Amino acid sequence: MLRYRNFTAYLSILAIVTTLAMPFYAFAQTRVVAPKNPYKPEEDVKLGRQAAAEAEKQYPLLNNREVDAYVRRVGDRLVAAIPGEYQYPQFQYSYKVVNVKDLNAFALPGGFTYVNRGLIEAAKNEGELAGVMAHELSHVALRHGTAQYAKAQKMGIWAGIAAIGGAVLGGQAGAAAAQGAFGVYFLKYGREYEKQADTLGAQIMARAGYDPRDLANMFRTLEQQSGGKGGPEWMSSHPNPGDRYDAINKEADMLRITNPNTDSRDFNRVRAMLRDLPGARSSQEVAGSGGRNQPRRRDSNSRPGELPSSSMQSYNGTNGQFKVDYPSNWQAFEGQEGGVTLAPEWALEGNDITRGVIVGTYTPRKDKGTVTPAKALNTLINDLRQSNAYLDEDERDRYTERLSGKAAMATFMFGRNPAGYEERVWVVTRASGNDVVYLVFIAPEQDFQQYKTTFSSILKSFYVNERNYR
Ligand SMILES: [Zn+2]
Repeated sequence: MLRYRNFTAYLSILAIVTTLAMPFYAFAQTRVVAPKNPYKPEEDVKLGRQAAAEAEKQYPLLNNREVDAYVRRVGDRLVAAIPGEYQYPQFQYSYKVVNVKDLNAFALPGGFTYVNRGLIEAAKNEGELAGVMAHELSHVALRHGTAQYAKAQKMGIWAGIAAIGGAVLGGQAGAAAAQGAFGVYFLKYGREYEKQADTLGAQIMARAGYDPRDLANMFRTLEQQSGGKGGPEWMSSHPNPGDRYDAINKEADMLRITNPNTDSRDFNRVRAMLRDLPGARSSQEVAGSGGRNQPRRRDSNSRPGELPSSSMQSYNGTNGQFKVDYPSNWQAFEGQEGGVTLAPEWALEGNDITRGVIVGTYTPRKDKGTVTPAKALNTLINDLRQSNAYLDEDERDRYTERLSGKAAMATFMFGRNPAGYEERVWVVTRASGNDVVYLVFIAPEQDFQQYKTTFSSILKSFYVNERNYR
């Protein structure tokens, strides 16, 4: 009752404010609120700079002064149009062109921005190029990289997934980078952050004199040029590109373009210049030839939807705590504190995983007393539910498993995930010394039976090196 009354009061206040505000704001726009972030802006710069150093070891830079200067001019213009609340004097926006033909761009925390030559060549006008850059710069301004990093660390057990990559240059090269580069950590976001970057990106474009519809149009341009194969960061398949196209155009309807930019001379000159240069390779070719200090890939990539191979490879925990087998067409994504996520590359999106297993260990708080398998399971389930509120467990599903020769507790969790389909999560855990080891298997409900054999083989192969636990 009380709550209801307060709610109405709030509504009427809102109505008054809105009415008053109307004469001053002819154009509404969606308000974008940056995610919580415990890091200082300086730390974005520090982490971004490290990641940039990694990226430059791996990707060939074009190093053409005129092309770089042009991209910088577009970037500076966009950065000047970032709303005041998202301007950080500490940030060091810089722009470099990568000499690969893939249509992609990425920006690291603190403002270190990379634009592929292929993107400039594919854009139909400066607005389309500016659109992708505005999207990337919005990730920087909203500090998505460090926010995601913080979120993953807080979740603790999800840290394993945090180190995933595959998005820097998309596909193979990106996956290769995931093996070695710290930077890729920041480059694959979930749907909420993508939506925010689209919305703020559209707003920045309008303020900088670009038509936000060009960002939407770039989706079409990419579709035409890549035959529908998505992949690059700014065009992640989630949310659906068609929905993003519509959402950006809807936002554009609410925006007024300040001082429209109609001069296309620079854009045309730079494109003519690029045409005269020898053609660029794809990032995949760069990765294949060893790139620049390219880390060697341990694992193979699989096509989206490909079932787990029955041939297995071994993963040895970085601190020697465990050993586990996993399908040869999956990859190992190492996380913080010795955890690892074993999954097909296509099944990872930002902090989300759709199929695969998270393996890890943690040390429970001392004051909680001796770790029993049941306690370990309770802690793990609470942790999982904190970041995945849609998952439910029925305690009647609990049963005793064997894990590396000792009794373990296991259970299943079910729920409809934010992507809208039923998911099943299989949790197995046991104590090891004062620590807890766990495996969390994930698959959509309708695929679970298909994955069950693989999951069982992984579980059976799991070996705990007890001597490395206290
Ligand atoms: Zn993005």
